Amino acid sequence: MELLSSALLAAFPHGFTTRRGGTSGAPWESLNLGGAVGDAEPAVEANWRALREATGLEFARVRQVHGDRVVVAREPGPPLEEADAVVSVRPGLAACVAVADCVPVLIGDPRSGAVVAVHAGWRGTLARVAARAVAALGREAGAQPGDLLAAIGPAIGPCCYEVSPDLAQVFRADLGARVAEPRGGGSRLDLWLANEIVLRQAGLCRERIEVLGRCTACEPDAFFSHRRERGRTGRQVGFIAPSPPCVS
Ligand SMILES: [Zn+2]
Repeated sequence: MELLSSALLAAFPHGFTTRRGGTSGAPWESLNLGGAVGDAEPAVEANWRALREATGLEFARVRQVHGDRVVVAREPGPPLEEADAVVSVRPGLAACVAVADCVPVLIGDPRSGAVVAVHAGWRGTLARVAARAVAALGREAGAQPGDLLAAIGPAIGPCCYEVSPDLAQVFRADLGARVAEPRGGGSRLDLWLANEIVLRQAGLCRERIEVLGRCTACEPDAFFSHRRERGRTGRQVGFIAPSPPCVS
């Protein structure tokens, strides 16, 4: 199984899955970790089992609804609660979000070891779900935004994400002109940069945010892409588990 990672988050067990290394058939081939996308349940379960075995972690998931709610995970299990960010303070229990173009953001607090995983499509980005996640780490673990480390994982990039002029204007007004620059008669939305700006406005330092820069729509062999496949595709995940707190 191939897992992408962030050098910044090296102290935390974490990763971003690709579509490679699973058991699902077309069009979900092969490491589909999304339920309710039409794939056979036994295949999805086998893929989850493989991820648990490869990482030694358990996974806490949420029912993602493109909102800004953050929940604190207590137990591993299937996505039952509606939220778009999940905090974990329990070693071995990974906070996990599923995506196929939307942005997975992983955040860790090196002082307390607490973590949060965030799902941010365009709605969640505008709702500043990543900033809500930062605030939740403060409430749950006393985390200071300036200490936090974050990785913005594989998602549809500005190369491929064409949006309506109206939506582009909303983003420009809210997060600055650079997040939705006109190109080729349309506007391309940069959700990587938009979430980086949301995190920086929430108090994170620029040098403590890594943008992986991998576009899900550009790499059909590596990633599921909702837009490229017109909705008929699987899900990859981003996950992060607490690390032992450092004393500094
Ligand atoms: Zn692209």
